[in-house]
Amino acid sequence: MNLESIEKLISKYEKEGLELEPNRKKRSEYMSEVSEYSEQFLDEIHSKKAFINDYTNDGAFENFPFEETPTDTNNIINFLKKNVDRAGINPASGGHIGYIPGGGIYGAAIGDYLAAVMNRYAGVFFATPGAVRIENQIIDWIGDLVGYKQGFGGNLASGGSMANLIAISTARIAKKIKSKDIEISTIYLTKQAHHCVTKALKIVGLHEIQLRYITMDEKYRMNPELLAEQIEKDVSDGLKPFMLVASAGSTDVGAIDPLDKLADIAEKFNLWYHIDGAYGGFFLLCDETKDKLVGINRADSVILDPHKGMFLPYGVGIVMVKNINHLLEANSYDANYMQDTKDYQQEYSPADLSPELSRHFRGLRMWVPMKLHGIAPFRACLSEKIWLTRYFYAKVQELGFEVGPDPELTVAAFRFIPKSGDANEINKKLLSIIHNDGRVFISSTTLDGEFWMRIAVLSFRTHKYHLDIILELLEEGIRDYK
Ligand SMILES: *Cc1c(COP(=O)(O)O)cnc(C)c1O
Repeated sequence: MNLESIEKLISKYEKEGLELEPNRKKRSEYMSEVSEYSEQFLDEIHSKKAFINDYTNDGAFENFPFEETPTDTNNIINFLKKNVDRAGINPASGGHIGYIPGGGIYGAAIGDYLAAVMNRYAGVFFATPGAVRIENQIIDWIGDLVGYKQGFGGNLASGGSMANLIAISTARIAKKIKSKDIEISTIYLTKQAHHCVTKALKIVGLHEIQLRYITMDEKYRMNPELLAEQIEKDVSDGLKPFMLVASAGSTDVGAIDPLDKLADIAEKFNLWYHIDGAYGGFFLLCDETKDKLVGINRADSVILDPHKGMFLPYGVGIVMVKNINHLLEANSYDANYMQDTKDYQQEYSPADLSPELSRHFRGLRMWVPMKLHGIAPFRACLSEKIWLTRYFYAKVQELGFEVGPDPELTVAAFRFIPKSGDANEINKKLLSIIHNDGRVFISSTTLDGEFWMRIAVLSFRTHKYHLDIILELLEEGIRDYK
C-alpha cells in the first residue's frame, strides 16, 4: 500500500474514533442528563423502596444489544432506571438494614468521577507521586486509628474479601509455610468467621491446612481458654500452629472476640494474629464502642471496610499489616520494564504492597469526603447507628420478641416465639411480610439451628423512622399468634 492510501486510512479511522472524545458541548449534554437522573435519584431516595421482590427480565437485555453505532444518553438512562435501579435490594436506601449495608455518600462519587476523568496512575509512585501520597495519607490515618506504631503498611484493596486475601497471603509468606508443611499446619478461628477467610485460604493454596473451629461463648465470642488448650494439644501432636483469625464484629451477629486476650495467646505461641474488622473496625471512631476493640493494635494484620463503616460506595477495603516488610515481601516483584520507576520512589507504592498493578485511583473516593466533611460527621453517623440498634433491641423486646445477645455494635438478632405453632415458620412469615412491604429490608440467619431475623444498622441514611417501620410491621404481623 502506498503512503498516500495509508494516510487516507489513518484520517478515516481518526475521524471515526473521535466519537470517544466528546467536545465540551457534547460533554455538557451527557452531564446534564446524568445529573438530572442522579439528582432525581437522590431527591427520591427517602421514599424509594429498599427491596423490590421482582426478578423478571422480560428480555430487556436481549432487546438492548451492543451495536456499532451510538445510543442516545436518554435511552441509556431510561434503560438503567427500568432495569437496574429497580429490582432487588437498594443499598443506597436507608431502609437497607440487612446483611451488612453499604453506603454511597455523594462526596465519594465526586472523588470517583475526578479519579476517572484524570485517570491518574495510582499504582506506582513514579507515575503519580500525588496519587500514591493520597493513598498513603489514608493508610497513615488508619494506622493511627488502629493504634499501630511506626513501621506499618497497608493497602486500599477493592473490598474486605480482597483485603483478607492479602493478609492471609502475607501471613503465609511471613510464617514461611512451605508446601510440605501445609497439612500439618493449623489455623484457629470460630464459626462466626466470614466465609471469605476460608475462600482466601483456598485461593492461596492453603485449603489442605487444618482448621480448628474454637468453641464460642453465649455471645458467639471465641473462648480463649479452649483456644490455648487446642493449641497446646496440636503442638504436642507435632502440628505447627500458624495463624489465629479473630473477628472484630462478625457479620452474622456482630460478635467481637476477646481481642486482647487472644493477642496474649497469639504471642505466646508465635502465631500470626489476624483480625477481621471489615464490619466493626470503624467503630474505633466512637466513644461508645472503641473500648470493645482494645487489643486490635496487637494484630499482625487487620482489615477494615470503608465501603461499610465509612459509608463509601462499594469498592474499597483496607488491609493493614503491622510490619510493612512482611507486606513488601509477600508482594515483591521484579520486572525489567519497570526499571525506570525505582529511581524516583520516595514512598512505597500500592504495587509494592498488593497483588494489583494498574488499578482505580480509589484513594480519592475516600480522601475527598474526609476533606469535604471532616471526620466528625462520620463519627456521629456511626454513633447514631449504635443508639438506633440499642433502641430497636429494647423496643422489640417490649413487643414480646426473644432477642439474641446484647448488641456489641449494630447487629441484633430477634425472633418471635408463638404460643403454639412452628416458631421457625412463623418467623419466616414475618420476614416475608417485611420483604413484601419493601420499605425496609432486613435479612435472617440460623443460630443454633433456629431461624432468626436480624438487623444490621450501618447505612448513613438509616434513621429512627426506618426502625419504627420494622417495629410496626412486626407488631402487626404477630397479632394473630399472641
Ligand atoms: C463484609 C465482610 C467481609 C467481606 O468483605 P467484602 O467487602 O464484602 O468483600 C469480610 N468480613 C466481614 C466481617 C465482613 O463483614
